[in-house]
Amino acid sequence: MEVFDIYNGKTDVYGIIGNPIGHSFSPVLQNTILRRFNKNGIYVPFKVEGGDLKKSVEGMYAIGIKGLNVTVPHKRAVMNFLCGIDNTANKIGAVNTLKYTENGYEGYNTDILGLKKSFEINCIDVSGKRAMVIGAGGAANSAVMLFAEMGAAKIVIANRTIEKAEALKKQAEMFYSTDIEVISINDINNCEKPNIILNATSVGMGEGNNQSPISDNSLFVGVECAFDVIYTPWETKFLKDAKACGCTAVNGFDMLIYQGIASYEIWHDTKVSNFEAKEIRNMLAEYFNNGSGR
Ligand code: NAP
Repeated sequence: MEVFDIYNGKTDVYGIIGNPIGHSFSPVLQNTILRRFNKNGIYVPFKVEGGDLKKSVEGMYAIGIKGLNVTVPHKRAVMNFLCGIDNTANKIGAVNTLKYTENGYEGYNTDILGLKKSFEINCIDVSGKRAMVIGAGGAANSAVMLFAEMGAAKIVIANRTIEKAEALKKQAEMFYSTDIEVISINDINNCEKPNIILNATSVGMGEGNNQSPISDNSLFVGVECAFDVIYTPWETKFLKDAKACGCTAVNGFDMLIYQGIASYEIWHDTKVSNFEAKEIRNMLAEYFNNGSGR
């Protein structure tokens, strides 16, 4: 298909705002979904500095950009410039998807939807289990809320900066009565053995890809599942170590794909079937693993 068969005066524009933005996989993901469903649309990355967020969001609305994803560091700050925020995003205190409406952009959070779907397809059952979340940033926030929503018996939040973990515990306790404990990342081996450990730090990604947030691997022994929100590298040191100790190891790729599909569904008021979603997921996994996505 030629470019002039795809784009014309009626092409809708979608995009992602963040800083940095060059590493984002979302343009490949969203343009693949747009092409899969023959939509007359294009999805592009926009680098937006913190001080420019308000005028960027207003400008994008003014020129009719139909949908946006929002990534680090704007997920919280962008909430000040929206006409409405859905309940899940409000609960998490972060927005990663903006939908154009006649009153302005509405905000949603699909990270938690992506994580939930990833748990479902990888058969991760959290109900009644002890869960440990390492990290207290945006990804950890979604994980803690999801574990609470899914009925975890106990959630331990382990973070380098204790204050951030305390704030996350407080946020979760506004909505759930789950038993939540905060510990320092240095005390990770000194607490009761969890059933599932989820790494929501950036340790192990990119240049630090030979690092793990866990220094003593005895923690993994007897743990059912280790989940890493990172997907570059495909298998982090955290996941390799967990696997070597007999845990089921799951990376963040499905979370990424399904949060993107959920954003697409919001923008287009549609439902992507499980079959279509799997087809998109497998196409992108192949692209990713042959080196193009890294
Ligand atoms: P964030 O809000 O900046 O939080 C980063 C977390 O990592 C914080 O808890 C931070 O601890 C911790 N951390 C960073 N460097 C550390 C170090 N050297 N030692 C110990 N802890 C360290 O980032 P985020 O948005 O949550 O993203 C975290 C990771 O999740 C990234 O790798 C991101 O790519 C990935 N992610 C994946 C998906 C997906 O769809 N798969 C979605 C969202 C994010 P402090 O609080 O002490 O700073």
